[in-house]
Amino acid sequence: MRKLLGLNLEELGAVAASVGLRPFAAKQMAAWLYRRRALSIDEMTDLPKNARAALAEAGWTVGREAPIAEARSTDGTAKYLFKGVAGRDIESVYIPDRDRATLCVSSQAGCRMGCRFCMTGQGGWQGNLDAGAIINQVLSVPESESLTNIVFMGMGEPADNIDAVLRAVEILTAPWGLAWSPRRITVSTIGKLDGLRRLLEETQVHIALSLHSPFATERSSLMPVEKAFATRDVLAALRGHDFAHQRRLSMEYTMFAGINDDLRHADALARLLKGTDARVNLIRFHKTPGFEGAPSDRATMERFRDRLNELGLTATIRASRGEDIMAACGMLAGKAKTNKNECDE
Ligand code: SF4
Repeated sequence: MRKLLGLNLEELGAVAASVGLRPFAAKQMAAWLYRRRALSIDEMTDLPKNARAALAEAGWTVGREAPIAEARSTDGTAKYLFKGVAGRDIESVYIPDRDRATLCVSSQAGCRMGCRFCMTGQGGWQGNLDAGAIINQVLSVPESESLTNIVFMGMGEPADNIDAVLRAVEILTAPWGLAWSPRRITVSTIGKLDGLRRLLEETQVHIALSLHSPFATERSSLMPVEKAFATRDVLAALRGHDFAHQRRLSMEYTMFAGINDDLRHADALARLLKGTDARVNLIRFHKTPGFEGAPSDRATMERFRDRLNELGLTATIRASRGEDIMAACGMLAGKAKTNKNECDE
């Protein structure tokens, strides 16, 4: 079967033409897919009946898939498991917070970036999600219609699946798509610079860079990406873009006890980020079996935050959400459990 979900207006135009529909039908199909949230081609009642039959005959389907499992936290956070790629399922996390309702989406089934502290990375990479599978997460969670923010911080490195992520952002923000403001979308990256450059140039979404250490040697030992794309080059690319006004740049800094949480790190971080307009999100680590690191304690995190603030950065400690379903999350996804610790946008 071929999925309509994930196609842009141009591609929908080609599909429409293939069954003898006029170009205008592309807009009608986009409206059914993305605004009216149709689950089947049959629902597209303003397309002629014979054209709908021809689409089905040609193997086209909408391509919506409901979550196959879910776990709910006492704080309202919910994790949803969707069918992924090559037997590896993927997760989305819904995070309500006062007037915000954020969905954290996955962009890949697994990940090949190999960050040592991350369970997704430890499980390897099984494949890329296409744009339809990314959009499906947004449309198919039960809270879909009340979402206010989307963060690409689930399974996978978005910059490593950049074509699908750009296409998903296009569908999320286009007037013929979901018509979201890019200011309500954040894409998180560990700094895979080729993909990040395209995100910077081709979209206006907020960017979150996962840093986790200001020192190259230390960061390399936590995140092999540092060897291929040095932080200093990533920051140079980011400095070329305007984050002082509507677009936002944040640094994600997961704190590991005795590894990256002393004031020497805070001082170096402040030096490194000088002139970037970035704010720093300090994230509590959730212990993962394959990594010896432990979470920093609250007092250490507060000391670190205060030092960054004294040095002129805006730093906050992210509230930890859904802790009671971290285990259930493992239960849902088995080995594919996500523990990026970053979905607290
Ligand atoms: Fe991949 Fe992100 Fe995990 Fe690193 S932290 S291995 S980039 S999913």
